[in-house]
Amino acid sequence: MDITKIIDPLNDAQRQAVTAPSTATLVLAGAGSGKTRVLVHRIAWQIQVLGLSPHNILAVTFTNKAAKEMRGRIEELLNIPTYSMWIGTFHGIAHRLLRRHAQQAKLPESFQVMDSSDQLRVIKRLLNTLQLDEAKWPPKQVQWHINGQKDEGIRAKHTREGHDPYQRQMLAIYRAYEDFCERSGMVDFGELLLRAHELLRDDPELLAFYQQRFLQIHVDEFQDTNTIQYAWLRLLSTDKDNLFVVGDDDQSIYGWRGAKIENLYSFQKQHPQHLLIKLEQNYRSTSTILKAANSIIAQNDGRIGKELWTDSGDGEAISVYSAFNELDEAYFVVERIRAWVNQGGARSDVAILYRSNAQSRQFEEKLMATNTPYRVYGGLRFFDRAEIKNAMAYLRLMSNHGDDASFERVVNTPTRGIGASTLEIVRQVAREQGVSLWVASASLIDQGRLSARASNALKTFLQLVLRLAEQAEALELFEKVKLVVESSGLLAFYKQDKVDKGEEKAENLEELVNAAKLFDANQENPDSLPELDLFLAYAALESGDMQADDFEDCVQLMTLHSAKGLEFKLVFMVGVEEGLFPSQQSVDDIGRLEEERRLCYVGITRAMQQLCVTYSESRRLYGRESYPKPSRFLKEIPAELIQEVRIRAHVSRPAAVSAYKPERLTSSTSSYKLGQRVSHEKFGEGIILQLEGDGAQERVQINFKQVGVKWLMLSYAKLQVMAG
Ligand code: ATP
Ligand code: MG
Repeated sequence: MDITKIIDPLNDAQRQAVTAPSTATLVLAGAGSGKTRVLVHRIAWQIQVLGLSPHNILAVTFTNKAAKEMRGRIEELLNIPTYSMWIGTFHGIAHRLLRRHAQQAKLPESFQVMDSSDQLRVIKRLLNTLQLDEAKWPPKQVQWHINGQKDEGIRAKHTREGHDPYQRQMLAIYRAYEDFCERSGMVDFGELLLRAHELLRDDPELLAFYQQRFLQIHVDEFQDTNTIQYAWLRLLSTDKDNLFVVGDDDQSIYGWRGAKIENLYSFQKQHPQHLLIKLEQNYRSTSTILKAANSIIAQNDGRIGKELWTDSGDGEAISVYSAFNELDEAYFVVERIRAWVNQGGARSDVAILYRSNAQSRQFEEKLMATNTPYRVYGGLRFFDRAEIKNAMAYLRLMSNHGDDASFERVVNTPTRGIGASTLEIVRQVAREQGVSLWVASASLIDQGRLSARASNALKTFLQLVLRLAEQAEALELFEKVKLVVESSGLLAFYKQDKVDKGEEKAENLEELVNAAKLFDANQENPDSLPELDLFLAYAALESGDMQADDFEDCVQLMTLHSAKGLEFKLVFMVGVEEGLFPSQQSVDDIGRLEEERRLCYVGITRAMQQLCVTYSESRRLYGRESYPKPSRFLKEIPAELIQEVRIRAHVSRPAAVSAYKPERLTSSTSSYKLGQRVSHEKFGEGIILQLEGDGAQERVQINFKQVGVKWLMLSYAKLQVMAG
């Protein structure tokens, strides 16, 4: 047996962690010290040397991307397929449990997962039903309250009424929300975790089954687990010392979403015999970058405190650029990237990290204007777009008539003459009789209680959904999606909409069919669960992986939060200004300020070779102009590590519209035509759907047979025109 591949690339402390006997283990170590590497190698060790089956291993990570990477690395180390190994996010794994055991979890087989915007809409409707004023009961605040309760494992029935009128009302809303979800078979993200916990807790046989199955449990980024996630891990590992967790208290950045850094301490208390391993060598960054990170995080109180050193050289100083405005900032960053690429650097080794999603636009525009391929993680996700949600709502409604949120969404989309007053009657009946909007509509039609016109329109809608469900029954997943997109009238509806980017929306719908096709091909479904339900849940859980192709060498844009766990040779940390980073809401609250500082530590430690920090003397964001001061975090970096960049790009504020806005031309100057058949080296054969821009900036949108719709730069794409 050759174990050198697993053992050799590790230092002593890492090796100790990887080969430690099964006992509760905590690897507590700073950024870039190899925690994730240890986790991956330990799993490989357990399979190869201890003879564990991949089936007996559970690994939980924080993002879908990290889970995918982890699976890939294990397969690479061992050369075996790992589909029977459960690797995923907490939400993904909880979802899988609930699907398998829907009945025991007291959920309908076809329960639906709501993402947070679905949830917000449900809450708004509920407030309306309860006749509560949104100004007094802001829906986002209600949502925050409900999610907070669930993250703590608290249901409405666990809370006493109390005397405080605010708390009483919140409780009433929470109760009504729970009733609604129960009735309509809807499950929000927090519910996935809570219910999966209750499922295991209340069913000893099932719990025993999973305890016996998961002989080893591994958790990455443990510092960001919340109460219910930790409770869930403890249930699965009770009486056994099989919990292996890695984390870094200095990288806890999800306190605002209920993460409990205390879990790190509880873990140690609850496992008095635990093995604690500290890793102290950083393999990721130059010593300049590491020193900057260390001196920033040293400003926080209450740290566990860890040493982190590197034997890599000093490397380059940290460049700091003070921009004149946000356009200048983008200009500077993109110029730097261009220089990097000219010197032979790969674009995918470059990341632009920002505090808020809204900052990405300036960079996107500048990157586009200079023909630099890029990819934004997060932002408006494919599955968040209105047209996609509409199509998904039809699919949801077909599989669950009780899904009121979907009913509301598409009952009159495309328009079919169902007016607001008719809908109000339907809602009222649903409320009075405690039934779904679907059942209320059917009974109103049956009893002839609506005007003939309204009744007919509503009947047409119900019949449409029933007919689609019937026709879809025997079809493959992507054919189902295709049927819905076409026969619901959505595709035609968007196609004829010339004003509101209808064409683009129609294409997105076509892309949805492709997404379903790809999903089908890639999905591991050992439990043979209904693929439509899996697809719907995937859409709710999916985090932007669909939006661009993976093949292209492109610059990576993302928020600091989503950069956790990743690394890049060249990192730009932009908008490092008071009021933006740290955010305005955190400057007066020491706890939140420290969390922002940890976020800054996360950002800096993503950089391997070069770090460039920028701030702007004036900034227009969210439609407001401000003149921020450089961030306090900047001052916390020792001056000798910094090199200020003096040159100023010559950029002035354009009058109304950004000067960098790429032109959207309807006609094209090239010889390509709409509808033309072309072929691409990597993507194969496709049809041109759209052309825009001209000269070096000309882009083309192509529907490829194999991989679906893509935008490409014509000058890079090297297309070949095909006959016919
Ligand atoms: P983070 O806290 O950011 O999640 P981490 O502690 O999980 O970081 P890894 O991502 O596992 O760190 O490792 C950081 C980098 O160092 C990776 O490129 C990894 O391959 C490399 N690395 C880790 N251990 C070693 C080692 N013993 N020898 C060489 N390279 C290593
Ligand atoms: Mg890691």
